[in-house]
Amino acid sequence: MIAWESGAMIDGMSDEFETWLDAFDLMYSALPARGATPCPDCGGTTLHLVFTGDPRSRRAYAQLWCEKCVRGIHVSQTVVPTGVPMNDYRMPREERPHQAPDFVLIQP
Ligand SMILES: [Zn+2]
Repeated sequence: MIAWESGAMIDGMSDEFETWLDAFDLMYSALPARGATPCPDCGGTTLHLVFTGDPRSRRAYAQLWCEKCVRGIHVSQTVVPTGVPMNDYRMPREERPHQAPDFVLIQP
């Protein structure tokens, strides 16, 4: 096999980001419940998910982070299921009801 054909090179995503995406999928499927997916880094059930976007179309970006590690990911395009609270992107950042801390962003 040629080196550049190995998985990580082809899809261009880091292994760490992929484990975080898996955690995102699990947290997302648990919605509107909080979900108890363990953090890919520390194993704590301390993950948080915040959506910010347009409440009419329900299109948003998502932030998933761990309260303990203060690390997480940004998912740029997703749809917020009905009944799940989200921020309106037109609102000033500091006034949004759902806040994410300044976490260390894991790059794709
Ligand atoms: Zn953690």
